[in-house]
Amino acid sequence: LIERMRAYGETIFAEMTQLAVDTESVNLGQGFPDTDGPRTLLEAATRHILEGVNQYPPGPGRPELRRAVSRYRARHYGLDLDPDTEVYVTVGATAGIAASLLALVEPGDEVLVFEPMYDSYAAMISLAGGVRRSVTLRPDPASGRFTFDPADLRAAVGPRTRMVIVNSPHNPTGTVFTAEELEQVAQVCREHDLIALTDEVYEFLTFDGRPHVPLATLPGMRERTLSVSSVGKMFAVTAWKTGWVMGPEPLVRAVRTVNQFLTFSANGALQLAIADAIDHEGAWIEEQRTALQRKRDRLTEGLTRTGFDVSVCEGTYFLMADIRPLGYADGVTVARALPREAGVAAVPAQVFYDHQQEGAHLLRFAFCKQDAVLDEAVSRLTGWH
Ligand code: PMP
Ligand code: GLN
Repeated sequence: LIERMRAYGETIFAEMTQLAVDTESVNLGQGFPDTDGPRTLLEAATRHILEGVNQYPPGPGRPELRRAVSRYRARHYGLDLDPDTEVYVTVGATAGIAASLLALVEPGDEVLVFEPMYDSYAAMISLAGGVRRSVTLRPDPASGRFTFDPADLRAAVGPRTRMVIVNSPHNPTGTVFTAEELEQVAQVCREHDLIALTDEVYEFLTFDGRPHVPLATLPGMRERTLSVSSVGKMFAVTAWKTGWVMGPEPLVRAVRTVNQFLTFSANGALQLAIADAIDHEGAWIEEQRTALQRKRDRLTEGLTRTGFDVSVCEGTYFLMADIRPLGYADGVTVARALPREAGVAAVPAQVFYDHQQEGAHLLRFAFCKQDAVLDEAVSRLTGWH
């Protein structure tokens, strides 16, 4: 293995899911729903396969999907994307993020990230030869939501800074960045001529009426932002691994140049089915949002009852729980012990940090599960410690 990838072993999701399986634990670790997306979507995919959509789709993606993506970004956010040159389909958001970093980060370039961060960012920045500068999100004393100090963001910018990665709604904190917070990022991008890469896979999973604001809608940002989203969380089909990169033509062309040699194209039958669902399953998306908001409340309430200090969650599948009120300090030790001792799996948030002590006392729990599963987890955790 090349030197710059040696720090990356097996992902925490693989490790914790295996531990959950081995111990027959309730798995609130890896974030995947335990009920699948709309029936029409599943049936359409089956139908397209049986009807012969089984050979390579165009590298940039089926035009039906690119057009549907362009339409929903216009409908929801007023964005205007040319489906032929400004939307590009990838094998999940993961490949979109990877191709974007490989296409735009030169060795030695610095990339700003907010920690805790989704695990693929660090690995792919390293693979591109880039250097991470992380800005820490911390709970705001007044509101309890994780946010950043704009001074930290400014202090992280240097002469080699090339890009900033923004994930909102944010995994693992559950923060949905406000327009004001995003404007702080936008100002830095404009002043220092940075490219922004946004990870918006949870764009339809915001709660309590909070809007999702794409960074690309802010002044001066459309021309410098690559936005990534995917079907996994939109329609609760995380195995479908179909995503899309959106942005100005020159940036999308760069991604395309790289991605044609990474995966060449994604699954064609699924793309056709997804295009149709994006156009017609808006009501399902809203039902999913409402259901997840209730699940957030259910798990927040349950974990609070068992003694965790649960932080404010505004979106995504995840919430963060502080173990210190239970008398513990090291989340990695607790997360490794919990499956065997309590029969519940969670993810130690420390793995999402560069400054690991910042997240040492936090566990990430996924609430995208059936109510009975959430209740079982809470009941197993009651009196565990
Ligand atoms: N970004 C974030 C923040 C995620 O949580 C995930 C996991 N679903 C991904 C990207 C990867 O998405 P996909 O499965 O579409 O590759
Ligand atoms: N996105 C999911 C999570 O954050 C799963 C990611 C993965 O398994 N790579 O838990």
